[in-house]
Amino acid sequence: MRVSKLMLSLITLFISGAVVAQAPYAIVIHGGAGTINKAQLSPAQQQAYEQKLTEAVNAGYQVLESGGTSLDAVTQAVLVMEDSPLFNAGKGAVYTYEGGHDLDASIMRGDTLEAGAVAGVTIVKNPVLLARAVMEKSEHVMLSGKGAEEFAKLQGLQLVANSHFDTEFRYNALLKAKEAMKKAEQKSPHQASLRLSPAWNPAWNMGTVGAVALDKQGNLAAATSTGGMTAKRYGRIGDAPIIGAGNFADNQSCAVSATGHGEFFILYRVAADICARVKYGGVSAAEAADQVIHQELVKAGGTGGVIVMDKQGNISWPFNTEGMYRGKRVAGQAAQVAIFQDLAKKPQ
Ligand code: ASP
Repeated sequence: MRVSKLMLSLITLFISGAVVAQAPYAIVIHGGAGTINKAQLSPAQQQAYEQKLTEAVNAGYQVLESGGTSLDAVTQAVLVMEDSPLFNAGKGAVYTYEGGHDLDASIMRGDTLEAGAVAGVTIVKNPVLLARAVMEKSEHVMLSGKGAEEFAKLQGLQLVANSHFDTEFRYNALLKAKEAMKKAEQKSPHQASLRLSPAWNPAWNMGTVGAVALDKQGNLAAATSTGGMTAKRYGRIGDAPIIGAGNFADNQSCAVSATGHGEFFILYRVAADICARVKYGGVSAAEAADQVIHQELVKAGGTGGVIVMDKQGNISWPFNTEGMYRGKRVAGQAAQVAIFQDLAKKPQ
């Protein structure tokens, strides 16, 4: 009798323990990688970035905390950054060679491997919402240009004039990029090459945004949004809307959002490669991300970084540039944001 009472209380303890044990949930975001150092950012600018990153990470975290999906969490976090002029996504996007803005975005869910992406859209206020509509309301994965905009209209998404995305800071970057392109062309006409791209100066391009999250149901998701590369032309599309290059999520391995010199991220299919190393190579997501960012890309001459989360909620954020705007929040903890190199080597 005594024994069975003891057994009963042990069982009760076990059950209540299992009920209160918290499912891990977490979010990590980035706001672009590049030449970001203390000398370049005034204390006021640094504070503005830190505040916006905190706002974005908390927007996503609140969704997760209240039991929402990782898909909603990454959407909310990216929306905050698309609406801020500080980042190269939505408002604040870089300029094309012709002086406009062409936006790219993508989103993916790790449970079903469904994804949506848009490239070269010019009048959709929040490209991440259009990418999501492509995933949820169309039979396709990727739409581009005018057709994508027509689809946005049909979906009732908010449209704006292309000038909505204008900022003086990015316009000055365009002037500098065009000057550099002109000089390079005069020096060696018809010698343009990926590795010597004069317009790819990490100081002008950084600011792509992304978010990766794990929800209480154990599902991963990733979203990425960008204006691309300053002075891009001929309809150039970067890695951000390419599933497996700038964005990827698979519950069986990890979720990744990337930022950097997009051409290299496409060639090295960065996001998919990281997750494949986890799935087939048995390495941790953090190790896999380090290998790709610090070895493969460095060897090739590709600059940038990634945010990564595995299915247990472990986060890493390696980058091979001077800085990367980034933030994270893990269940039950406060938000953490960082910009410079210092914390980069010690992800948790
Ligand atoms: N990856 C983006 C692109 O190449 C740019 C960036 O992340 O800064 O379009």
